[in-house]
Amino acid sequence: MANNEDHFKKVISHAKEYGYIFGSSEIYDGLSAVYDYAQNGAELKKNIREYWWRSMVYMHQNIVGIDAAILMHPTTWKASGHVDAFNDPLIDNKDSKKRYRADVLIEDYCAKIETKIEKEVKKAQKRFGDAFNKEEFISTNPRVLGYQEKINVILQRMGKSLENEDLADVKALIEELEIADPISGSKNWTDVKQFNLMFGTKLGASAETATDLYLRPETAQGIFVNFANVQKTGRMKIPFGIAQTGKAFRNEIVARQFIFRMREFEQMEMQFFVRPGEEMKWYEYWKETRLNWHKSLGMGAENYRFHDHEKLAHYANAAADIEFKFPFGFKELEGIHSRTDFDLKAHEEHSGKKLQFFDPQMNESYVPYVVETSIGLDRMFLAIFSKSLQEETLGDGSTRTVLKLPSILAPVKAAVFPLVKKDGLPEVARKIIENLQWDFNVIYDEKDAVGKRYRRQDAAGTPFCITVDHQTLEDQTVTIRHRDTMEQERIPISGISEKMKDSISYQKWLA
Ligand code: ATP
Repeated sequence: MANNEDHFKKVISHAKEYGYIFGSSEIYDGLSAVYDYAQNGAELKKNIREYWWRSMVYMHQNIVGIDAAILMHPTTWKASGHVDAFNDPLIDNKDSKKRYRADVLIEDYCAKIETKIEKEVKKAQKRFGDAFNKEEFISTNPRVLGYQEKINVILQRMGKSLENEDLADVKALIEELEIADPISGSKNWTDVKQFNLMFGTKLGASAETATDLYLRPETAQGIFVNFANVQKTGRMKIPFGIAQTGKAFRNEIVARQFIFRMREFEQMEMQFFVRPGEEMKWYEYWKETRLNWHKSLGMGAENYRFHDHEKLAHYANAAADIEFKFPFGFKELEGIHSRTDFDLKAHEEHSGKKLQFFDPQMNESYVPYVVETSIGLDRMFLAIFSKSLQEETLGDGSTRTVLKLPSILAPVKAAVFPLVKKDGLPEVARKIIENLQWDFNVIYDEKDAVGKRYRRQDAAGTPFCITVDHQTLEDQTVTIRHRDTMEQERIPISGISEKMKDSISYQKWLA
């Protein structure tokens, strides 16, 4: 596809045209940064959630899953630090009146320097051909090293200033780097201010008696407050994990890039409770395990990378992101955080309840340390969807749009067609669907010529098309067509289900 910006536009329009994602309340012109998942989108999202849940909960005997409420006791957010510290630094441009996240402006500036590095690499690649060693080039070329050093200095300074709440220095950095408003080009900035991202709401009937609540900004706290309940009732022994998926809400200052940054989104989080002192071992374990999970989906190992945090959140002693190459560049897809005993300790203090584990081997009680894996379901959706959408030129020079979703995640697993709408073929096709629908989401389609139907299913991401023709009436066989290779094979009706199960089994994908 032409360039990244064009590709991203195509992703957004394709998501709408093929029933994946609509803007929220579109008939009223939509609500900014809020989206609805349509008939295919809801399925894809559910399948990603299921793929995560199975790998985390079913494949680990020491991890269980819960489903905590979105509304929580307001003290939760005092204890977790969100009331005092869940802020983004924002800055306004006085001329354009546009509001930005100060840290994002600086990060975008660094991303531009990174593009220069990529250009140098590409140039050298051309020059040296097969003999080119990228690692070596990046670690020795003076120009590249200079760019990298510049990025490091900027990000380190920003990290320190944010950690020390030195917002004046963040502004100074923006001015020194001469960062301009991306829309108006103006460099006329206000001071940097902190802005709390939590959505407030009220519980109760009358204004006088109502309690102030927050919509949860992360699902993790629902796990922490249930730590003792789950540990006791599940007879869990350290190390063990609690997993959860569910909605989270953040009043993002700049919400853009489609479903990458939303105000209402879904998280898939797992808190892993470990012995104090062993957290780094588990932190490394989960970094690797999570990266392997991503790779299992076949989107290309080169599209993932780790980014270790310079600036640590108030609760963490180590943190890394798994970044994915979105159409707009490498960005955070998942976070792995070593959260120490910060959360459980804080909840102990605020609730007066013990949140500890008696370790029979050590013969002592302690507050466990926590390693968290936290991924945005919507971001994962965007990663898979944008990478799967491809424009292919075929042997005869024609092109096709194909959505090469991993078959395990595809919303519809097969479309069943009668070749023509008569001679009893539709009846046979419907019978096949009746058998398959116990195990798979399958659809019937009889409109248009078969070639056109194939193209429609390619673009919708359906991995198999099954065609019933006149030969089927004689020998009970059908053609099954594979989306990615466009190969067709003739198989007996009785073998369809087996064939599909082979390609769409969790074991095949997850193992
Ligand atoms: P960012 O730096 O992009 O704002 P974050 O570091 O605040 O993200 P975390 O608090 O670590 O994000 O949340 C864990 C995951 O939740 C992220 O890796 C991301 O996939 C997802 N996520 C966070 N905020 C949003 C959002 N506004 N919209 C969609 N997904 C989000």
